[in-house]
Amino acid sequence: MMRSEKVIDFQSFTENVGRFDLRGKTVLIPEMAGIGSQLLAASFRGFGINAKVMETCKGLDLGKEHTSGKECYPCQITTGDILYFLKKEQARLGVGFNPRDYVYFMPEAEGPCRFGMYNKYQRIVLDSFPALKNVRIGSITTKDGYSLEGIIERQRVKDLRKGAYFSVVISDILDRLLWRIRPYEKEPGMADNFISKAMHVMEGAFGKHVADKNFGKILDRMDEIIKEGKMIIDPTVAEKPLIGIVGEIYLRSHSQANQDIIRVLERYGAEVVNASIAEWVNYTTYDGLRTAKKGLRLDMKQFRPDAMRQDIEKIMGFGGEMFYQKLRQRQCYKRARALLDIAADHDAGHLEGILRKEDLYNFDAGTEACLSIPGIIEYAREGYNGVVNVYPFTCMPSTVTSAIVKPLMNKMRTPYLDAPYDSTVQPGRETAVRTFMYQAHQHFKRHGRKAH
Ligand code: SF4
Repeated sequence: MMRSEKVIDFQSFTENVGRFDLRGKTVLIPEMAGIGSQLLAASFRGFGINAKVMETCKGLDLGKEHTSGKECYPCQITTGDILYFLKKEQARLGVGFNPRDYVYFMPEAEGPCRFGMYNKYQRIVLDSFPALKNVRIGSITTKDGYSLEGIIERQRVKDLRKGAYFSVVISDILDRLLWRIRPYEKEPGMADNFISKAMHVMEGAFGKHVADKNFGKILDRMDEIIKEGKMIIDPTVAEKPLIGIVGEIYLRSHSQANQDIIRVLERYGAEVVNASIAEWVNYTTYDGLRTAKKGLRLDMKQFRPDAMRQDIEKIMGFGGEMFYQKLRQRQCYKRARALLDIAADHDAGHLEGILRKEDLYNFDAGTEACLSIPGIIEYAREGYNGVVNVYPFTCMPSTVTSAIVKPLMNKMRTPYLDAPYDSTVQPGRETAVRTFMYQAHQHFKRHGRKAH
C-alpha cells in the first residue's frame, strides 16, 4: 500500500458512501458475531452477490495507525480489517487490483452516537491511499430501518431483506445453542467443534434455499442441528448459575474484541446468555414505526396533509416489517425451543414498557441504552444470577446504562459487572470476573435460577 495522505474530500462522502448496486462486486463484510456474519454473507451469496467476511483483528495495528485513539474500539478494529484485507488483495492481484471491484459494507445508525461517523471516517482513511480511493463503502442506515433498496434488482429487494433477517435469527439460535450446551459438554471442545461444523451446514443451506424463500428447508437443518447438539450435554453435570450479557452490539458479539468474555465466565462456572443481534434489528424497525407514529400525531395537529401522507406510508412500511420480523422470529424460536430449552428473546415493545413504567430512560434519547437498561432489569426479574454489561472503553450509551442500572442492581441484589474493553488487557479483569462469579454462585445458592 502506498503512503497515506489525509485530505478531506467532502464530495467523496456522497459519491463513495451509500447504497450501491452490489451485482458483480465483491462485498466485504466485517466480522462481528462469528456465525451471524458468515450466515449473512451466505444469504447474500444465495442472491448471487459475491459476499465474503474479512479476517478480523489481524490488521489491528493498521487500524491503530490510522486512528487517533479517540475513536471507539470497533472503529479501530474495522478500520484495520478493511485496510488489512485490501493490502493483501493488492499484493495478491498486483496490477490486476481494481478498487471498483469492491464494496465495503459498513452500516450506520442515526442518533447521538459516533457509529454514524465510522463510515465517514473510514472514507477519509481509504481516500488517503490513492489506490483505495475508489473502493466504495456500502452503507445501510437505521434511518430507513436498514432498507436494502438499490443494491440488487428492485423486485428481489424484499426477498433479500427477508433472507438477511432470517439469517440473523438463525445465527442467534445457533449462538444460543452453543451457550446452552458448552457449559455441560461431555468432553472439552465438543460443543465448539460441533457448532463450527453446524455453521458450515447452515451456510450451505442458506446459499441453496434462501433466494427461493424455502425457509422450511433451512428450518429442517436447524432442527437436525439442535437435536444433534443436545446430545453433547452431559446429564450428570449440575445446573450452573445463569448470567445475562447486554451492552454494545459489536463488542458483546465479537469474541476477540471482548477477550472471549463468555468463555471466561464459563471457566468460572457460568452458563451465559448474550443479548441477540435480532434484538437490535427489531429495535431499529420498532423505533422507525414509533417515530413515524409520533410524526403523524404532530402533523395532524398542525394539519400538514402532505407530511401526513408520508407519515402514513412510513407507518405502513415499518409496521409491515415489524409484523414480519416478529412472526418469523417467533416461528423460529418456537421450533427451536420445542427441541431444547434455549433462551427466548426480548421484545422491543416490552423493553420500552419497562423503561416507561420505571421512568428510567426514554426511547426518544435513542442508542443501545434503550435495550441495555431494560434488558438488565428483565434479566434480574427473570431470575438470572448476574448481569454483565460489555462495551468499548468510553462508549457513551453503555456508560449511561451503567450509571442508571448500578444502583438498581444493588437494590435488586443482583450481581452486576461492567466490562469495558479496548485493545489492552486489563490486569484486574480476571479478578473482577472471579469476584463477580463468586457473587453469582452465592445468588444461585440462595435463589436458585431461572429455567429457560
Ligand atoms: S455505541 Fe459506543 S462504541 Fe458504538 S459508536 Fe456509540 S459510543 Fe461508540
